[in-house]
Amino acid sequence: MDIEAIPTQDLLAWAWRESEGSFAIVTSFQTEGMVLIDMASRVCPEARIVTVDTGRLPEETHQMIDQVRDRYGMRVEVVAPDPLEVAAMVERYGTNLFHREAPLRMLCCQVRKVRPLERKLSQFRAWATGLRRGQGEARETIEVASFTGGRLKICPLANWSAEDVARYTELHAVPRHPLYERGYTSIGCAPCTRPVTAGESERAGRWWWEQGIGKECGIHFSADGRLQRKVDVLLEDLLTVAAA
Ligand code: SF4
Repeated sequence: MDIEAIPTQDLLAWAWRESEGSFAIVTSFQTEGMVLIDMASRVCPEARIVTVDTGRLPEETHQMIDQVRDRYGMRVEVVAPDPLEVAAMVERYGTNLFHREAPLRMLCCQVRKVRPLERKLSQFRAWATGLRRGQGEARETIEVASFTGGRLKICPLANWSAEDVARYTELHAVPRHPLYERGYTSIGCAPCTRPVTAGESERAGRWWWEQGIGKECGIHFSADGRLQRKVDVLLEDLLTVAAA
């Protein structure tokens, strides 16, 4: 059967079965992640919900964590960055290093988001994420199911439009992150996310001071060639300091 044609709930149930329950929904509680949580609560309520607390999240995201626990009774596991890595990074480059240059912004995302999530995902055989193809150029070719890092990754909403997400959210009264009401269309860390204005793209409010590079943190996509190599060098150097 064409995997693109499998209903979203069935995909979640399939990943749950295939992984024998070693399955996580990874989310930052944006509307897409909330749709997955709502569906999972019906077809695989024992699925684990994983989120990364980068240390720079808006207060409203913490409110969402509590709301999800209350509403769905599902387990939410909050993953934190390695404090030694954060301390080494802040000591060397400052708290707000992300404003200085793109490689440092990506280093911050590596330390605060990507590495903690990678450590956590090593516990699972499969995970789901709320990526949609309509969220921007980098995401246009995402696959519904793939094997990355030795585990099954599913993007059950790959084919959904923003309108599909909004419709489901309204129909099932799924909790919405409060920042949407304030003009945000994509929500990440507080200092790196702003509301968008009319005509701006959905992810325009993420790292809005950067031009000409993808608006991605590194969890799903690496940067292009030379930029990624710079980030890798910065990270390697930082890890040496953190381990000393
Ligand atoms: S979004 Fe900003 S604060 Fe959060 S990890 Fe990335 S660079 Fe750091």
